Amino acid sequence: MLPSSTVENYLKAIHHGQSSLPKGQRLLPMGHVAAALSVTPGTATTMVKALAESGLVEYEPYTGVRLTKAGDKLAALVLRRHRLVELFLVQVMGMSWDEVHDDAEQLEHVVSDRLIDRIDEMLGRPTHDPHGDPIPSADGAIAPLPLDNLLTCPTGTSLKVTRITDQDPAFLRFVESNNLKPGQRIEVEARDTAADAVRLRRANRKPLTIGARAASKLLVEIDRGK
Ligand SMILES: [Zn+2]
Repeated sequence: MLPSSTVENYLKAIHHGQSSLPKGQRLLPMGHVAAALSVTPGTATTMVKALAESGLVEYEPYTGVRLTKAGDKLAALVLRRHRLVELFLVQVMGMSWDEVHDDAEQLEHVVSDRLIDRIDEMLGRPTHDPHGDPIPSADGAIAPLPLDNLLTCPTGTSLKVTRITDQDPAFLRFVESNNLKPGQRIEVEARDTAADAVRLRRANRKPLTIGARAASKLLVEIDRGK
């Protein structure tokens, strides 16, 4: 029997990989799975075959892998535990949003359903974690991703930051110190493709220019509040 944390990490990695597949591509290449988990392709293949036998993934040799409905639900429940734990550590334990990810990576495999339900209730059934990632419901449903990041959104329009897709502590500290956390309001003033830079306008702060790579990790929606 495989340890459940290994199974859960594979399901999570496949779930993440699938969400960034180009439109029309159904199966996630095995090379992607191996790289995401830092294992050899042979190890990844052995593991994925075992997951296929358990009915958690569909596996096609030499083509790739995809979660079944059962695998998708399990992955969503791991993400639910991870994100509720992160929010708990920030809101209740007073930890900073840039230091909770690693602890959540451990705790997501061990907290019981009963405990996670209590946390959910205690936090008022939140919809998003501190990084703006949606918290799946107890039956495994996940809200869709916002579509735009700071490279693709309209310019000269008031925006609200909704989600930070890179949880590297240094990047999160950069985001926080520049008032770019989820919920904060900004506007893209201009994009300079030659310099690979995006110029931002923020309320009560000086304009800020950030690189295209950083801009691609900040998801936004049009600000419909006043
Ligand atoms: Zn996290």
